[in-house]
Amino acid sequence: MSRYTGPVCRLCRREGQKLYLKGEKCFTKCTFEKRSSPPGMHGRLRRPSEYGLQLREKQKAKRFYGVSEKQFREYFRKAIKARGVTGETLMQLLERRLDNVVYRAGFARSRAEARQIVNHGHVSVDGRKVDIPSFLVEPGQEIAVRPRSLRMERFKGLAEYLEDHTAPAWMALDPHNFKCTILRLPERDEVDVPVDERLIVELYSK
Ligand code: SF4
Repeated sequence: MSRYTGPVCRLCRREGQKLYLKGEKCFTKCTFEKRSSPPGMHGRLRRPSEYGLQLREKQKAKRFYGVSEKQFREYFRKAIKARGVTGETLMQLLERRLDNVVYRAGFARSRAEARQIVNHGHVSVDGRKVDIPSFLVEPGQEIAVRPRSLRMERFKGLAEYLEDHTAPAWMALDPHNFKCTILRLPERDEVDVPVDERLIVELYSK
């Protein structure tokens, strides 16, 4: 299944919680706050089964990070092979995506915008252009908005936005130079995504 391209606020209603997929609008004019019932004619009628709960948790994680089923399974496969707790490694892999890092650093207001910024070649890693949103960052790498891109209209106001932005503790943000350095990989309790990854592990372990 490819990446979802329909109305994103519908996804929040489907998951029954705000997923913050639309940047600024999520804080000012949130659709979910006006209408939180699930989409479709009948809404949520029955108590979900165990499988249903596991499935919803997986869908939620996919939607947060904007990844396809195929990509998500690939992250899970990598997490299983790695040392450590599978669910936590899975979340760490998702956090390490370049589009997520660009969003966390504050260079974009949503992950969707971050993905576009990366796709359009506005981001560098250690001084070299990287236009692959799924690129996995490593500790020690420096992620920056490319200087020539900063002249573009879309980055106007970024300096002011970064003044008030707090990046997560696993990266060091240099707001004056529009760059951040990855200090270490994030711990699970530093990932503020309301997903119970244990349910995802149970789902894929069937
Ligand atoms: Fe979800 Fe944001 Fe839309 Fe609200 S505005 S429903 S949080 S995507």
